[in-house]
Amino acid sequence: MYRKSMIGVAVGALLLAGCGKQAEAPTATAPDASATVPAPASDHAFDPAITAADFAELTRTLASDEFEGRGPGSVGEERTVEYIRAQMQRIGLQPGNGDSYFQEVPMVETTADAATRLSIKTGDQTLDLAFGSDMVVGTRTGEPRVSVRDSEMVFVGYGVDAPERGWNDYAGQDWTGKTVVMFVNDPGFHSNDEKLFDGRKMTYYGRWTYKFEEAARKGAAAALIVHDTPGASYGWEVVRNSWSGPQYDLPTSDDPDPRLPVQGWITADVARKLFASAGLDLDEAYRKAGKPGFKPVPLKATLSVDLNSTTTRKTSRNVVGVLPGASRADEAVLYMAHWDHLGKHEGEGDTIYNGAVDNATGVAGILEIAEAFASQEQRPERSVVFLAVTLEESGLLGSRYYVAHPTFPLEKIAGVINLDAMSVAGRSRDFVVTGIGSSELEDILKPIAAMQGRRLEGEASVQSGFYFRSDHFNFAKAGVPALYAKGGNDLVEGGKAAGKAASEAYAGNYHQPSDEFDPSWNLDGVVEDLEALHAVGRELAGGDRWPNWYEGNPFKATRDRMMQARQPATAPAAAQ
Ligand SMILES: [Zn+2]
Repeated sequence: MYRKSMIGVAVGALLLAGCGKQAEAPTATAPDASATVPAPASDHAFDPAITAADFAELTRTLASDEFEGRGPGSVGEERTVEYIRAQMQRIGLQPGNGDSYFQEVPMVETTADAATRLSIKTGDQTLDLAFGSDMVVGTRTGEPRVSVRDSEMVFVGYGVDAPERGWNDYAGQDWTGKTVVMFVNDPGFHSNDEKLFDGRKMTYYGRWTYKFEEAARKGAAAALIVHDTPGASYGWEVVRNSWSGPQYDLPTSDDPDPRLPVQGWITADVARKLFASAGLDLDEAYRKAGKPGFKPVPLKATLSVDLNSTTTRKTSRNVVGVLPGASRADEAVLYMAHWDHLGKHEGEGDTIYNGAVDNATGVAGILEIAEAFASQEQRPERSVVFLAVTLEESGLLGSRYYVAHPTFPLEKIAGVINLDAMSVAGRSRDFVVTGIGSSELEDILKPIAAMQGRRLEGEASVQSGFYFRSDHFNFAKAGVPALYAKGGNDLVEGGKAAGKAASEAYAGNYHQPSDEFDPSWNLDGVVEDLEALHAVGRELAGGDRWPNWYEGNPFKATRDRMMQARQPATAPAAAQ
């Protein structure tokens, strides 16, 4: 057990003793795959309870056909949440929601009729668009039948209203009942202008969820996003797969924000035809939309659609277990991972979206970390919460519900660590922190990663907006510092080339039935990631730090207010 206690001390010592040196060695001497392989932290210099074998077994099981792609509200959900609860119980975690391991999440399941067609009248012709091949649409209203008739179509650029950036693509018009057409991502992306928004790094304004939220706030009847693979950072097949079949949402009672009667995507080909029919050139439209002062452009077309959907009210479940703290049990560190995936599709061939990487690996990861905490001789002072959320694939809804109904007061949560789509490509020299430069949680991770001979890096594809695409984002929006980090692409075996090949292979499986468990995966890297993320949580749970967001971070003000409110009212100064 020597190694375990070593951790705390070693990190401190290295920091004091300029550990950087050790850590720096690999980087200082320009990475040369063969020469500077960082010595693997001797087996389990971190925590022996985290093993590749256990991780593999958990991942293989959760990603097996028996779990039917872990669709919310399905038989797959039943088996998944029962399995996670049983594992939490086996590990020795207490129920995390009163005397239950489950938190019911009300949801509305809406399935749009795949025979739906969009009809766009332009001048003397009509574009008749088919679901799946030309467009995808749906409604979040929960209404079984939504009709839009001859709604005026207007191109609104990127559909962004960002007062703090002096940018409003909706300026000067009443949008009630209109149909807005817009591009994905934000003005900084296609214009390649580093000074515009955050340049190629996607801001929340670039996310498809924001686009529909804003169009709904403007009172539009319908909103259509033009798909382009670089802008979306995934191909049309991902859009088609994600929008086909049941869609889930929180009931309006749980999420009062306005909702669009009709929302969806059109292919680039359809957009090109639509713009051409209005005498516009799509490529020119991209240039114009990326310029400050953009003005909405009428498309001289109207949209009509009768959207029939089946809607069912159901509940899904978050699964939550807790390891009570030894002395400050009312404070907590929270680990999370989404258990849900895309379930099954109707078509031919392999119909199950097994979701091995996304996100059986994350759930297996938090269970392995829980095992490490539970097998520690000494309980940490603070409690450690393990949360497996539902409905991530449907818009981060399970975590949104948890943040609105936390089983642990948010102001008592010192930090959140999110695991989503862990790397199964082997050990890496880089530890990728999505949205790096956000919070002081990174200051805890950095020396720990250095002990593994690794450096912290930001995510490579900043244009993909990964920071907004996983559950930590709901905690961040509520002000709670959150970390989303995992092994990167600078692989110990094969360097960046191997890493690139591995992430391209995963991109091909992303949200496809082919995302399946592979016994030949090299799990040394993910074990190292889990050891490091465990060490971060142990450091936090073992102390009294309250890491905050860095200066300038948009969520810091919310946290400051939250922590202020937590302060016990100062006793009035005794009368002199
Ligand atoms: Zn995921």
